[in-house]
Amino acid sequence: MTLNYIAGEWLAASNAVPNVNPSNTSDVVGEFAQASAADVERAIDAAFDAFRAWSHSTIQTRHDCLNAIAAEILSRKEELGRLLSREEGKTLPEGIGEVTRAGQIFQFFAGECLRLPGEKLPSVRAGVDVEITREPVGVVGLITPWNFPVAIPAWKIAPALACGNTVVFKPAELVPGSAHALTEIISRAGIPPGVFNLVMGRGSVVGEAMLKNIKIAAISFTGSTSTGEHIAQSCTTAHPMKKVQLEMGGKNPMVVLDDADLNVAIECAVNSAFFSTGQRCTASSRFIVTDGVHDDFVAAMAERMKSLVVDDACRAGTHIGPVVDQRQLDQDLSYIRLGQDEGAKLVAGGELLSRDMPGFYLFPALFAEVDNRMRIAREEIFGPVATVIRARNYENALEIANDTPFGLSSGICTSSLKYASHFKRNAQAGMIMVNLPTAGVDYHVPFGGRKGSSYGPREQGRYAAEFYTTVKTSYSFGGNI
Ligand code: ADP
Repeated sequence: MTLNYIAGEWLAASNAVPNVNPSNTSDVVGEFAQASAADVERAIDAAFDAFRAWSHSTIQTRHDCLNAIAAEILSRKEELGRLLSREEGKTLPEGIGEVTRAGQIFQFFAGECLRLPGEKLPSVRAGVDVEITREPVGVVGLITPWNFPVAIPAWKIAPALACGNTVVFKPAELVPGSAHALTEIISRAGIPPGVFNLVMGRGSVVGEAMLKNIKIAAISFTGSTSTGEHIAQSCTTAHPMKKVQLEMGGKNPMVVLDDADLNVAIECAVNSAFFSTGQRCTASSRFIVTDGVHDDFVAAMAERMKSLVVDDACRAGTHIGPVVDQRQLDQDLSYIRLGQDEGAKLVAGGELLSRDMPGFYLFPALFAEVDNRMRIAREEIFGPVATVIRARNYENALEIANDTPFGLSSGICTSSLKYASHFKRNAQAGMIMVNLPTAGVDYHVPFGGRKGSSYGPREQGRYAAEFYTTVKTSYSFGGNI
């Protein structure tokens, strides 16, 4: 059985749950300890006690620790990628790619340890100096989802540690294996006991215990909108209030104009909507296609989808792995039924598949004749289910693209500089993609959205410091000579 990691020790818990491979539900990846509220309290106490020393550690120490983590992740990327794919269901190349990304993130933030900037400004008063410095916020609670079980924890843990915070990490219930493997690596990197703690278990137990504890100064969360709203409320009604950063849902549009290169648009669309089984917050689920190319786009998509291989995530040649679990599969299927009930036309896919092993296999679904007011066009499904919405022209397409409660990523396929430039200025989203899939981002630049997708400062790149530090303004008067 794998264990929680608290105060530099691996601790057993009274409860354990099996972790099942979604490609083959008879394959149990492992038994994972479930932390109790008392375990969580112990982890938070350990992080609280370790904060003073870690916040004063040298930037060289932090750099070396993060670099050691990066090196081990990268040297074991095939093995860790396989574990990730076995546990979460994304394909092996996607799993290895995600682990590689996590290693690069730790490498990037190892460098950032050495680059945390401050400012020195003249004062408006004679003889006075003003310095603006950044300090760590304290114990940070990191609550993460199952869809990127290594990369999302990495892009929260790395900047948290780089900035001198101590960490209590609560991974999603479905992916404890990846969290455990990452923690083992962190435990070997020279970080003092208590600086980093892993508590696995249910959101309602472990997550809630973190929200209630006054020793946690900040919570960074990625997950569903409803949980995110609950976390924001808990953090802002706590005494003292907690700093909070939320990454939540998306209903990302991809506009396709008459002048687009159709091959580019189809590849962007298939990647955006269906790769990683559509289980990415940056996935595109609304293709907004102008009249002149609409019918060709729908026909070409249906044709292209015929070549997609849905199978065991770890099998060579699989393009799309299984849905993560029964609950998510039920949700995908219920939206597919809802789309038909709402009057949309299912032009391709949407059926359950049987494979050699028992697993959650769903062929991606494409709906046409979708009205942007339909629930399948407004609500996040989080599966391989996409819609095509007809637009009269560019202006109409932009209006539909922005008509959503979300604002994470927004794409356009066009060969026109005029429309691409206008779209970059007017699309209401945190990330804009021109002739690229809506998903797939760099690790050295900010990630995040607006409207219902995100709350608080951006993640990743040097912008991450905004959340993981607090600003101090110091005034000094040296005296008159
Ligand atoms: P999903 O429905 O995709 O699993 P959630 O938002 O429920 O998304 O889960 C994201 C993360 O939030 C998980 O780690 C989960 O355990 C955690 N979580 C769920 N409920 C709570 C809660 N009440 N308090 C804190 N964390 C929670």
